[in-house]
Amino acid sequence: MELYYQIAFFIFGMVFGSFCNVIGIRVPLNKLFESQRSHCPFCNKTLHWYELIPVLSYVFLSGKCKLCKTRLSMIYPIMELLTGFLFTFSFSVHGFTLELIVALTLSSLGVILIVTDLCYMLIPNKIMLFFLPIFLILRIFLPLDPWWSSLLGSFIGFVFIMLIILISKGGMGGGDMKLFALLGIVLGYQGILLTFLFSTLLATVVSILLILLKKINRKYPIPFGPYICGSALITYFYGNDIINWYITSLY
Ligand SMILES: [Zn+2]
Repeated sequence: MELYYQIAFFIFGMVFGSFCNVIGIRVPLNKLFESQRSHCPFCNKTLHWYELIPVLSYVFLSGKCKLCKTRLSMIYPIMELLTGFLFTFSFSVHGFTLELIVALTLSSLGVILIVTDLCYMLIPNKIMLFFLPIFLILRIFLPLDPWWSSLLGSFIGFVFIMLIILISKGGMGGGDMKLFALLGIVLGYQGILLTFLFSTLLATVVSILLILLKKINRKYPIPFGPYICGSALITYFYGNDIINWYITSLY
C-alpha cells in the first residue's frame, strides 16, 4: 500500500511540476491567465494532449518540437521529475499528516522559483505574496518549537540579507532578501541560518566548478534562487538531524 501511495505521489508530483513550469514561465511575463493553450515557444504550434504528458512526451519527442524541430529546454522534464521526487519524498517523511501540506507547498515554491530565476534571473513578488499567507496560516496551525521561531527566522532572514546587500553592493538582490524572510516563517531561526550557510556554500562550490569547467566566466551573474530553494529544502528535511549531529559532535 505504501508503495502504491508513493507511485501516486510521484505521478501527482510530475503533473503538478508541469503546472509549476507553466507558472514559472508565465508569471514573470504577466501571461498566467492568458487563454492561449500550451504551445511551442518557437513556432507557436499548439500542443496536443499527448505532447503535454510530463517527462514522457519529452522523451518520445526526443526533446524537440514535432513541427519546427527546435530543441526544447531540458528545464521542463527536469523540473517535472524533481517535483515528482520531492512529492514522493515528502509523503515518505510525513505520511498523511498536516505537515505534509507544508512540505508539498515548500517544494512547489522551490520548483517555481528555480524556473523563474533560471529563465529570467527573477524571484517575482507575486509568487512570494501568494505563498506568504499560506505559510503563515500553516505555521499558525502547525507551529515550530518555540512558536516565535518563525517570526524570528523571518526577521533574521530579512535583516541578514539586507546587511549583505548593503555591504556587498549587489552580491544579492531584493528578491533574495524577501525570499529569506518568507522561508524564515517555515524554517524558523535556526533553519534560516542553516539555509543561508548551505546556499552560500553550494553557490560557491558550483560556481568554482563551472568556472573551472569554463562553462561561465567570473563576471557571469549567478542566479542565487536555485541555491536558496535547494538549501531551504535540505534544511527543511534534514536541518534537525544536522543540528543534532553538530551539537553532539561538539562534546
Ligand atoms: Zn515548434
